[in-house]
Amino acid sequence: MILLVFAFPGAVIGQMAPPRPAAAESVQARGVHLVEEPGSDTLGVVVDLSREVTVRHEVLVEPNRLVIDLENTVFAGAPAQGSNRAVGPVAGWRAGLFLLGRSRIVLDLNRPVLVQRTDFVRQGPHTRLVIQLRSASQDEFAGRAQEDQKRRFASRVPEGPSVPRPAGAKPLVVLDPGHGGIDPGASGPKGEVEKEIVLAVARLIRKQLEADGRVEVQMTREDDRFISLGERVVFARNRSAALFVSLHADSLFGEADVRGASVYTLSDRASDAAAARAAEKENRADVAAGLDAPEAQREGVDDILFDLARRETRLFSQLAARGVAQSIQRSGRLHKTPLRSAGFRVLRAPDMPSILVELGYLSNPEDLQALMQEAGRQKLAQGLAAALLDFVLNNRIAISTKPLE
Ligand SMILES: [Zn+2]
Repeated sequence: MILLVFAFPGAVIGQMAPPRPAAAESVQARGVHLVEEPGSDTLGVVVDLSREVTVRHEVLVEPNRLVIDLENTVFAGAPAQGSNRAVGPVAGWRAGLFLLGRSRIVLDLNRPVLVQRTDFVRQGPHTRLVIQLRSASQDEFAGRAQEDQKRRFASRVPEGPSVPRPAGAKPLVVLDPGHGGIDPGASGPKGEVEKEIVLAVARLIRKQLEADGRVEVQMTREDDRFISLGERVVFARNRSAALFVSLHADSLFGEADVRGASVYTLSDRASDAAAARAAEKENRADVAAGLDAPEAQREGVDDILFDLARRETRLFSQLAARGVAQSIQRSGRLHKTPLRSAGFRVLRAPDMPSILVELGYLSNPEDLQALMQEAGRQKLAQGLAAALLDFVLNNRIAISTKPLE
């Protein structure tokens, strides 16, 4: 192992963390390095840590990925990414916070590899985690992925039934700031990231709605953490939300003139090619964070019942989308085709009106400016809050008479 680490001393030692006192709370991780051993088909994944941690790893197929979880660990500094730096079997990788108190490294593989061994090597005040990978056949890899998946399902918390809102309770709006943690979402030319923008706008909308006082507001995330698409839906359904609003911002490089907000509802067939692309991009969030591909995920509920409930829900969702688009139009930053639909996974609740708002494009200079400035965010938040209030208050009776489960 030592030989492996010292094979490229410049690349590894050059980025050692400075000495830091042993923290009682989270373990600090700094830098992820992939180290190839010349003349061998093994690869080392090297992470510098403030002390030893519990390491778990598993593999996933479609596409082939290796996921390494570090318990009770946070990465110092900005989340690291190595998307464009292929090393041996690794086509790209990303690392960052997965759940509160757990960090994750996801390796996208261009050929199957498995973990051969895991070692901790003392390096003065630090501990260096060295994970050695070995080549495997696709059969062996797929077999391991199947075992890992079985274990994940066995430990899965079942989706609970919706809890009806108590009589007289204010209707609940659930705001869902997209992405978070290991998944930054879209990015702008100067490193602006979608996950931060949508969280900031969501907070402003909440403030507006709470100031009004006629609805209750909850957010699927209030900080920089990863939440799967399924968990976002479950969060809102379990609380019997009157409306679920997922907030995003897109980026289309090479198409800088595409601008303005769009409001999406669910459909099996996308309204246009760009809408299909947007849904595909947003649906990739779970895969990027090292979760199962959507096809492999058990929905955990009876899809036929869901289909029966869906039609009415869709009509309400479309009504909400129209109101939001009209309200944003007054502030003048609407996409030329603002009402669109596609197969967004986060909009699949059968019994809860759900919309997804792409607030604008980080690839368009004016949109970016509006999304990065307090005044632009306020304007968007005001428009959205007014439309959400209008929808929820005026459609309250219709929503509350719907069967809940
Ligand atoms: Zn997004």
